[in-house]
Amino acid sequence: MMKNVGPTTYPEIFLAVGGREIPPSDREVSDVVNPADGAVVGFVPQATDADLDAALAATGPAYEEWKQVSAFDRSTIVRRAGAILRERSERIATTMVLENGKTFREALGEVMVSADLLDWLADECRRSYGRVIPSRFPHGRVLVVQEPVGPVAAFSPWNAPALTLMRKVGPAVAAGCSVIAKASEETPGTAYEIYLAFRDAGLPDGVFQLVFGNSTQISEHLLASKVIRKLTFTGSVRVGVHLTQLAAQTMKRVTMELGGHAPVIVCEDADIDLAVQEMAGFKFRQTGQICAAPSRFFIHESRYDEFVEKFVAKAQQVVVGNGLDDETTMGPLANERRLQAMLDFVADAKSRGGKIVLGGNQIGDKGFFFEPTVITDVDDDFEVMRSEIFGPIAPIARFSDLDDVIRRANSSDLGLTAFTFTENERTARILSDRIEAGLVTVNTGGTSLPETPFGGVKQSGYGHEGGAEGLEAYMTKKLINQL
Ligand code: NAD
Repeated sequence: MMKNVGPTTYPEIFLAVGGREIPPSDREVSDVVNPADGAVVGFVPQATDADLDAALAATGPAYEEWKQVSAFDRSTIVRRAGAILRERSERIATTMVLENGKTFREALGEVMVSADLLDWLADECRRSYGRVIPSRFPHGRVLVVQEPVGPVAAFSPWNAPALTLMRKVGPAVAAGCSVIAKASEETPGTAYEIYLAFRDAGLPDGVFQLVFGNSTQISEHLLASKVIRKLTFTGSVRVGVHLTQLAAQTMKRVTMELGGHAPVIVCEDADIDLAVQEMAGFKFRQTGQICAAPSRFFIHESRYDEFVEKFVAKAQQVVVGNGLDDETTMGPLANERRLQAMLDFVADAKSRGGKIVLGGNQIGDKGFFFEPTVITDVDDDFEVMRSEIFGPIAPIARFSDLDDVIRRANSSDLGLTAFTFTENERTARILSDRIEAGLVTVNTGGTSLPETPFGGVKQSGYGHEGGAEGLEAYMTKKLINQL
């Protein structure tokens, strides 16, 4: 049964450059594909070099004006944009399902969290306090004040097209920066809705501009410009390294939110039902395409069989289908690349003696559906244990010794999230102290909220999104020394 959310038509998408909205009919376009059936649902206009020059020309003056607007007034616009997102949430969620494939419930939740983030930022931007340092001289004043960092180039991906973009545009606008965003061409409809929410909330022209097109051309063009003072990117390590190199030429500030390959450590004394509940829920959410998702399962050998049996039973309850269908709890993968990656992981695991105890196959031949998959008897040299999975595969390995499993967990080049399950307080402390990750959880799959900082270590990137840190990333400190 399909969800009754009104017409499931895909919106017309425009480029937003310098206060102009440029329709697809005026530019070359690329197709937007519905991952549930492979059909073309829409078209996204491709920015030309002239469009990018126009965006760069507009962003500097827009920044100069916007930074003069008081935090009080910026806060009002940011909060209003959040309210608009909530009003339009069903429409936006439908668009997101059509271009990304996730379930309607997941898409709606993402829109709501994006609106919550704006509420948080609307509050927090009014509290970007400076400080007073006692002067060494009579009547001297030494002040530290916060200023917006300047025009920002933001690049956001397709897996969480609302939240990943909002974690960049939201704090940039709240801090008093202007921003040129290039969102994924695979999910442009959601990004365009976010632009519309800010526009309709009264954000002045040119403060938030939105472009799509050739990723390489756009990033090279924008990042070569001295007008841009900050780069922010969410996506793969490969692209993150490339963009950071481009930004280094003009010494731009950088925030990088890259991949993860989260270890899940389930200890001898863990509550297995809780671990299964939390980790199966997270593993298959958004078809596993979340950078924070559980990725490498390490289960104490004494609880291994029990965990596998219960985890498989939970995974069998996942209902795979079109994200607009009410019954569906897991949609298709977002694109053919992810489908091929899952097939490659499974083939590698089979060739090395892993047991596919659930799933392992594409479903049907339309769209990019893949079975919830559980692989047991895996070794750490399997590809699925070495590379970020970004899909609905759970590889489950054994461990016997705590020091050894910490070493194995830390052996990855990535360090975004880690999940631990234990009823022993001392073990919890050892694990949370020694695991190399930006976030370690104990007995929960809960990750980040608008008020908490989220970011990785090692090749998972640097800087934070969310929390006070997520706003500070768009501000710089100025020292004022007065005698
Ligand atoms: P990819 O490496 O081709 O692209 C990753 C992202 O970067 C995409 O959103 C893409 O549009 C963008 N991109 C690519 N080239 C760019 C350029 N020159 N300039 C600016 N942006 C550019 O990989 P993919 O197939 O789209 O995604 C697969 C991998 O990416 C996953 O395995 C996962 O590791 C990673 N990823 C991570 C996140 C995250 O939330 N951290 C999100 C999406 C993808």
